[in-house]
Amino acid sequence: MALIVHKYGGTSMGSTERIRHVAKRVAKWARAGHQMVVVPSAMSGETNRLLGLAKELAPSKATDSYSRELDMLASTGEQASSALLAIALQAEGMESVSYAGWQVPIRTNSAHTKARIESIDDTKVRADLEAGRVVIVTGFQGLDELGNITTLGRGGSDTSAVAVAAAMKAEECLIFTDVDGVYTTDPRVVPEARRLKTVSFEEMLEMASMGSKVLQIRSVEFAGKYKVKLRVLSSFTPWDIDINEEAASGTLITFEEDEHMEQAIVSGIAFNRDEAKISVLGVPDTPGIAYRILGAVADANVEVDVIIQNLSKDGKTDFSFTVNRGDYAKAIDVLKSKVLPSLGAQEVVGDTKICKVSIVGIGMRSHVGVASKMFRVLSEEGINIQMISTSEIKTSVVIDEKYMELAVRALHKAFDLDQPPV
Ligand code: ASP
Ligand code: MG
Repeated sequence: MALIVHKYGGTSMGSTERIRHVAKRVAKWARAGHQMVVVPSAMSGETNRLLGLAKELAPSKATDSYSRELDMLASTGEQASSALLAIALQAEGMESVSYAGWQVPIRTNSAHTKARIESIDDTKVRADLEAGRVVIVTGFQGLDELGNITTLGRGGSDTSAVAVAAAMKAEECLIFTDVDGVYTTDPRVVPEARRLKTVSFEEMLEMASMGSKVLQIRSVEFAGKYKVKLRVLSSFTPWDIDINEEAASGTLITFEEDEHMEQAIVSGIAFNRDEAKISVLGVPDTPGIAYRILGAVADANVEVDVIIQNLSKDGKTDFSFTVNRGDYAKAIDVLKSKVLPSLGAQEVVGDTKICKVSIVGIGMRSHVGVASKMFRVLSEEGINIQMISTSEIKTSVVIDEKYMELAVRALHKAFDLDQPPV
């Protein structure tokens, strides 16, 4: 008998029929003798619907009082799905109780719409488990110091589930979703993409940060920090499949690098079309310019990703970086109004039609020539590389958006990701 956390995403909770399916699956686990805590997302589309209503009344005002109400509003999606799941479980003959984040309570800071979990009091949940109940805890939300409801950012139910699993020292956290695991790349782009049986926590972190939307990145950070055993698997299998088979399905996020790892140098190809490139041209090449350019951008709350500075010529240089596409206009505006005049730079130019493609694998640590193989493959396809960034376990390139699929397919093949590892 173990304490297990299940998380069900929006599609898994998408209708009363799906919720009944989830209840039957959870009941199966509980009847096998496990203590079950379940963290659901809102029914699919519900969070968007609610936020859309707010937008109809007041198109996104970035004030604290507005964000507070957005949280008050959006958190109801999970409150509804959690209650429905408890009702479905009761209908299955299981004793079950649901709690909103504030009832547990899950305490967060006060950063409305992107709050961070600070602590979880598990007293109540434990007492219910001891009394033989299945406990449902709403995903996505918490309570700040002042008693306000907060939410954790889009996709935040993953983080709720991992945080609950960490706080309760659960044996494992199973993230049930509409795909059956983590793939070598998006199967919609490369049909030959394979499901990975295991992926290391660090690889998962890179993939999540680069647009693989399977898990919210913060949940992966949380799992890494608290060593939560995490598995991504499908909720679209028949609910009554053998529990042992189910417990070994999907993709396990591992911490031991060698033991269970598939022996591939590159484990996956990630890509991201959500970025835009900005270049500040003709910047005087003096100490402090990076700080003055990127400092101003950071002050506007814009995150910067890939950065390059060119060799200077006649005391001037060009400075380029990428930002999230949604922040592009804001960043350009800050640069034009604040940075250009004070730096005496010549021009700010940008390109929103770029994408970032990355190869990821912990095997890159111990193998040389992996990045150069990537560059060769891209050159053979006639794809121009605009920017490069590397870390120990990944190499990313920024290229023209129109070559994204070609690049991903070529790299997937060149690194033998369509073949099972030997
Ligand atoms: N319902 C929230 C969202 O759509 C949280 C989640 O599903 O994880 O972002
Ligand atoms: Mg999600």
